[in-house]
Amino acid sequence: MKVLKFGGTSVGSPDRIKKLLDIINPKNRQIVVLSAVSGTTNSLVEISQAYLAGDKSRAAELTAALKAKYDIFIKELFSTEDGLQNGKELIDYHFNLISSFANEHFTPVEEKVILAQGELISTTLYHIYLTEIGVPSKLLPALDFMKIDEDNEPIVDFITEHLQPMLDKYPEDTLFITQGYICRNSFGETDNLRRGGSDYTASLIGAAIRAEEVQIWTDIDGMHNNDPRIVKGTKPIAQLSFDEAAELAYFGAKILHPQSVFPAQKYKVPVRLLNTMEPTAPGTLITNESERGKIKSIAAKDGITAIRIQSSRMLLAYGFLRRVFEVFERYKTPIDMITTSEVAVSVTIDDTRNLGEIIEELNSFGTVEIDHEQTIVCVVGDFAADKHGFAARVLEALKHIPLRMISYGGSNYNISLLLGDSNKVEALRSLHHRLFE
Ligand code: ASP
Ligand code: MG
Repeated sequence: MKVLKFGGTSVGSPDRIKKLLDIINPKNRQIVVLSAVSGTTNSLVEISQAYLAGDKSRAAELTAALKAKYDIFIKELFSTEDGLQNGKELIDYHFNLISSFANEHFTPVEEKVILAQGELISTTLYHIYLTEIGVPSKLLPALDFMKIDEDNEPIVDFITEHLQPMLDKYPEDTLFITQGYICRNSFGETDNLRRGGSDYTASLIGAAIRAEEVQIWTDIDGMHNNDPRIVKGTKPIAQLSFDEAAELAYFGAKILHPQSVFPAQKYKVPVRLLNTMEPTAPGTLITNESERGKIKSIAAKDGITAIRIQSSRMLLAYGFLRRVFEVFERYKTPIDMITTSEVAVSVTIDDTRNLGEIIEELNSFGTVEIDHEQTIVCVVGDFAADKHGFAARVLEALKHIPLRMISYGGSNYNISLLLGDSNKVEALRSLHHRLFE
């Protein structure tokens, strides 16, 4: 069985929704995971923020504007009285719920209920549409099987135990539809897998039912070998290993939610990135295989902060790095890159919310220096023992750019470099030219 996930733009208009059947063959047994209609989750975030700020009239205004969009949407989607009536009832139900929060004490718990409405609406609209045109389908409520624990980690065994019986109950049915993004947390409340989390849902379902394949349908023809917004002539990458895909997804390639790689990897479910606008294009296939002797892709993540801690106490000492890392741990701040010398260590962080406190604590170890507006450029491929002189080629391509950090050998498939944000574009172009042209 395959899992097919369609993102917000793939369900972004009535026309796009109707065209999904060009890709979905309703005769195949499969699970279709849908995001909210594009723009909806952003609007729901704004509505929640208005409620959280106690601004009920602003919340009402935003809610009415979003509802007006759906009122038009359903008129174009449905062509029968019945279809339109069902669509209307659905939209009224969800928007009455959103409006009802004006009468309640609004907390982040209520916010998560609001954020869940986008996927609940898109999947049910699709189900009603399929019913209208006579295509049988079953709606699977994600809130009945998608579960995260106290640390917000999805529980794959729970998903298997709850989803598999639902599928077994309908052995004749082929087309299942479910919501991306939404889940229940350890308190049983409605929660979500963070922004962009529908990819993660698809991968988790793929892992939980040991699917034959997970397909992520978006509007670009796979993961590209460089950022297409910055560099001309980028190409889709035909094949990536899970490790390579995880590095790229984290370091810039926005096409895939980074965490979504891991469940599929653990249960060896191939993931294919495909383009709704060009369904026959091969896209990118992500599997456990890694191709030898090839540089695959270049990605960048900007807005990074570098921190250097210099201390004579580091010399010949043990336990020094642990104490440094514990500071970041206390402030729940992930570190991305690390480089060390005998008397200094540099690390990078992306989340600077607690930077002030972190610096204050680090000051007790030695001299602390901060560089803001840095970019991590990451080159992904087979760097095993660098048989091919790739590292030299990477450095050669960047010889005219000041480098703040170089991280090599952490894994066999990545070399990361830290440079100023202002040099990001030039670095990406120069590397592309040197490595791919
Ligand atoms: N609708 C959610 C979002 O916009 C989840 C997703 O689309 O992946 O973040
Ligand atoms: Mg997405």
